[in-house]
Amino acid sequence: MLEELRQLVCELHAELPNNHLVAWTSGNISARDPETNLVVIKPSGIKFPDLTPENMVVVTIDGEIVEGNYKASSDTASHCYIYRHMPQVNGIVHTHSRYATAFATHGRSIPCITTAMSDEFGGDIPCGGFALIGGEEIGQVVVETLQGSRSPACLLQSHGVFTVGPTAEKAVKAAVMTEDNAAIAWASLLMGDPLTIAPSDIDKLYDRYQNVYGQ
Ligand SMILES: [Zn+2]
Repeated sequence: MLEELRQLVCELHAELPNNHLVAWTSGNISARDPETNLVVIKPSGIKFPDLTPENMVVVTIDGEIVEGNYKASSDTASHCYIYRHMPQVNGIVHTHSRYATAFATHGRSIPCITTAMSDEFGGDIPCGGFALIGGEEIGQVVVETLQGSRSPACLLQSHGVFTVGPTAEKAVKAAVMTEDNAAIAWASLLMGDPLTIAPSDIDKLYDRYQNVYGQ
């Protein structure tokens, strides 16, 4: 079932360790098939080098397992909650990447202080409140936090990062950019108060990057 999407989600998982966003088995990616509304997600507790297209788990948008020999990721209920409440989202990534999670331990947003952050996120990366793992509470915090922001990424207090995208690949890109910018913001804040970018310039940068940049 969903052979191509299983293959894609498996390949994208390799990007998480490649970009130093995860340790051991933490972190996960899912993708929704817009035609069937089925979701392909990482199996729980399997190490990244052992992931294959075959051991990915297929669940309904309500989190019921449809196909898979393994238990689905412990964040499955939260991924499904996000898909049910954000119909434009077809890919979700979760990591505990280091610098971004350091901001999350202070319940602090990552401030938009570079042109690259303006491009990708169109403003600060917001931080949502604390939620326990296992149910859909994390998904509720993510949806609440992303509403009213154009950022495809948010932090979860004392936990880590969730990113969303119209495709799983775009959600992975947002996760990589979140960590890159978190490291820059961390270093910049150590040096004192960074200069700010005028909101109107952030708007212009965001608009150019989203609508003009690239091939
Ligand atoms: Zn987590």
